[in-house]
Amino acid sequence: RPTQPTRHYDAQALWQKDKDHFIHPFTDFSVFHDKGCDLITDSDGIYVSDAHGNRFIDGIAGLWCVNVGHGRAEIGQAMAEQATRMAYFSTFNNLSNAPAAELAAKLAELAPAHLNHVFFSCGGSAANDATIRLVHYYFNRLGKPNKKRILSRRNAYHGTTYLAASLTGIESNNWDFDTLDHLVTHLSEANLYRRPEGMSEADYCDQLVAELEETIERLGADNIAAFIAEPIMGAGGVLMAPKGYHARMQAVCRDNEILFIADEVVTGFGRLGHFFASEAVFDTRPDIINCAKGLSSGYAPLGATLISDDLFEVLGTPQRKGGVLSTGFTYSGHPVSCAAALANIEIMEREGICASVREVGPYLERQLKTLADHETVGDVRGSHFMLAIENVADKATKELLPVEARVGDRVAAEAQKRGLIIRPVGHLNIISPPLIWDREVVDRVVAILDEAFAATTASLRADGFL
Ligand code: PLP
Repeated sequence: RPTQPTRHYDAQALWQKDKDHFIHPFTDFSVFHDKGCDLITDSDGIYVSDAHGNRFIDGIAGLWCVNVGHGRAEIGQAMAEQATRMAYFSTFNNLSNAPAAELAAKLAELAPAHLNHVFFSCGGSAANDATIRLVHYYFNRLGKPNKKRILSRRNAYHGTTYLAASLTGIESNNWDFDTLDHLVTHLSEANLYRRPEGMSEADYCDQLVAELEETIERLGADNIAAFIAEPIMGAGGVLMAPKGYHARMQAVCRDNEILFIADEVVTGFGRLGHFFASEAVFDTRPDIINCAKGLSSGYAPLGATLISDDLFEVLGTPQRKGGVLSTGFTYSGHPVSCAAALANIEIMEREGICASVREVGPYLERQLKTLADHETVGDVRGSHFMLAIENVADKATKELLPVEARVGDRVAAEAQKRGLIIRPVGHLNIISPPLIWDREVVDRVVAILDEAFAATTASLRADGFL
């Protein structure tokens, strides 16, 4: 495993403090209490290093977010300069700050032409949560207070505030947690790999659209406010929709006065080769696009809700005398986060990162597909820098390995031993790298994964799972 000298940390003491006091999100306590966590302490470009100085290729861009790569001093300096000059001041009550104003205008320039108004939050969950609140307010203002229900999809991931978790459709995410079921109805996910046996892509698309139409018929368009969807479902397993799905879903929504919300928290900011994928890749014209993650490349917490001119006409008018748009966060438009995002976007534009993803992305897809020869690799899917490998027990039937086989964890551990971090999600492995990988890095990564899958097959066989 390649190593590099690193700032000194007392790795053991840190590990202990973390284990004793940090309640980690999405962490399996059946292993945490013994094993604790790997502490990642340093980073540089496509690499991160742990507290022991072991260096890894980052195959997940932190958590789908460090799009311009690690250790960008330029972003750090922009943040430091802003923090030193004016770290924070209110954006409520007719106050604003320079980076937030600049960033809002920049996002309006980058987004589809009709999205010119930006509501800032602190991340993706908060952006989705704030969006639903604004959507409800919008319909109340139009005199349609019954339009409340939000259509989401099974296996969608929209975050973990109470409302965002309710939109989320990954069943295990809400085990023993409550959800606001009176507000959300989940449709089927669009999952080409696991579509009904023998069904064509076009027929599958018809089936999903018909389900939407039937659901509207059943619930009544007067009771439905919006449909929210990730262009490609991320945490749910990088699920690919059939061709034309999003545009057709939007057309049905439009006919029923149902707002179309694109959750571009992952697909935005270059991951699919464009700042926003909705229009450029999926031919949709969302009423609202949400973004976070790559917006600041993870250098600071930030989310943004991009709102259409039509919606803003209503939101931007006081609801009654003395009324204000009474929603928002202390840190809406935080100057240091906005300064980070502006520096991030400047790098993306200067270095032509979207164009590079459009060039390297298809190569990454092609090379990853060579792994399909491995016994357990059932599907290699995704687009550009948003990819997943689905592990199965049987390629023909697509039957899964038992949960106890922990196949995703095994592959991830074998890759990590060889200097690459990828993300295990159940029986899947997700690859969502920084957008600065070139072909040479792709070749190294695929060689590591080739070994990791071979070692996983051997260990599954040794343990009697194959
Ligand atoms: N929406 C999507 C599509 C996401 O993938 C995520 C996070 O992974 C979120 C929303 C939630 O974002 P955050 O974790 O910043 O709250």
